Amino acid sequence: MDIFLSPEHEQIRIGENNDKYTIAVVGSGLAGLTAAYLLSKKHKVTLFERHPSLGMDAHSIDINHEGKIARADVPLRVIYPGYYKTLMKLYSKLRIKTEKVSYAASFTNNNEDSYFQYKNLRLGRLSIPYVKTRYLIRQESRRIISDIFRLFRNINLGKFSLEDNMSIEEYLLKHNYSKSFSEGFLYPTFAAICTCTLDAVKEYPAEVILNYLNQGLLFRGVKRVTNGSREVVQKLSENVSKIRLSSKISSINNEEEKISITEENGKKTYYDHVVFGIPANKVSDILGEEFSSELELLNSFSYENSTVLMHSDKRLAPIDRTTWSPVNLISSSRNSTPMATIWMNKVQPMLKGTSPIFQTWNPIFEPRENLIISEAKFERPIVDKKAIINVEKLKKLHLEENRKIWFCGSYAQYAVPLLESACSSAVFVSERLGCKLV
Ligand SMILES: Cc1cc2nc3c(=O)[nH]c(=O)nc-3n(C[C@H](O)[C@H](O)[C@H](O)COP(=O)(O)OP(=O)(O)OC[C@H]3O[C@@H](n4cnc5c(N)ncnc54)[C@H](O)[C@@H]3O)c2cc1C
Repeated sequence: MDIFLSPEHEQIRIGENNDKYTIAVVGSGLAGLTAAYLLSKKHKVTLFERHPSLGMDAHSIDINHEGKIARADVPLRVIYPGYYKTLMKLYSKLRIKTEKVSYAASFTNNNEDSYFQYKNLRLGRLSIPYVKTRYLIRQESRRIISDIFRLFRNINLGKFSLEDNMSIEEYLLKHNYSKSFSEGFLYPTFAAICTCTLDAVKEYPAEVILNYLNQGLLFRGVKRVTNGSREVVQKLSENVSKIRLSSKISSINNEEEKISITEENGKKTYYDHVVFGIPANKVSDILGEEFSSELELLNSFSYENSTVLMHSDKRLAPIDRTTWSPVNLISSSRNSTPMATIWMNKVQPMLKGTSPIFQTWNPIFEPRENLIISEAKFERPIVDKKAIINVEKLKKLHLEENRKIWFCGSYAQYAVPLLESACSSAVFVSERLGCKLV
């Protein structure tokens, strides 16, 4: 199943021949950075970012903790080669090193009842998940284990029949997966991966979730960039002609032959092409009304907000410390989004052996103020039943011959909205402008 946009339109690429354009890339998350990097091979690129530093690394922080200095990526992002094929190709081209990291997880209700936990056993290149015997006596845990293996066996054997645009909730109900598995394991896991509500996860197309799980995740484990986002950002931006930081774009308009970009301070510049690397739901704040079909489409992508805290408040980890894992998912009947608390000391080698530091996504209560290190807000796209239509429409738009405005970002592929879709959507747009990732 190929859910990515394939470049079958190559013969009508816009940047063929020796055409060289002035191109503005707006937004420097991974999508904007990848586009800026690839387009700079041929064109003159100006990259705009509203933050004072490049977006992908804008919220990361330096921690000076008990004599150890460590850089913490905010948010922490992991990848796994099977699913992140385009990103791995980009990282390998840039010689960005990655390393295995344990993202073993515990599952707790209301901070008290830890009902499931798995660890990973490393065997050469394999990462074998296993469950401690204390959980095997619980029927709930046994059901989760048995359904995990049933789901992976079925998707491995291609034994899943997906009716048109079936949601993951519809799929699990139809195939009699237990409530312990769906509500106790799969939904909270994906609510963390997508930092969204449980209701949003249930609406995800089953195809998108099963495809994510079907690329070798179970026995290969996950990886992190060894030197963190800072290195990625540095390498992707070093050959870009102009980088304008602290530069929020307030409007973009079509002016005869050129596209004008106006910054918040009133400065106006002109380009042959503009590549948007900002969230779809922010495009309407700046794109002129003359682009009505683009606006209508971009406004139909849905988003949810999330908060990421760096802190040292143990109350946001499970009460029973023996259950602490690198990732701790804590659900509460009062909250629609489970909280994920990452035990930083287990995933950031520089913090090993020091007192606990955490990164919490979507806290279900506030940490003590004096224990908060930083707070950042993010928005995540939600993939629902209309996503496949939206992405298809976006593809058609990008195939128009005289196109000058382009869109990339984690929302722009029919996939889980992660670094891979941000990267591959930027690769797609760059190819249309004559610059390939080779
Ligand atoms: C808590 C959390 C955990 C995550 N974990 C993972 C993970 O483990 N693995 C993974 O693959 N992905 C993970 N992700 C998702 C991943 O971070 C995103 O998919 C990816 O960063 C999206 O990149 P992007 O370039 O599409 O958008 P963004 O990163 O949102 O970049 C958009 C940029 O545009 C800038 N901008 C916006 N408006 C303007 C304007 N008007 N003018 C100028 N600049 C503007 C913004 O400041 C921003 O820098 C996680 C996300 C969160 C929130």
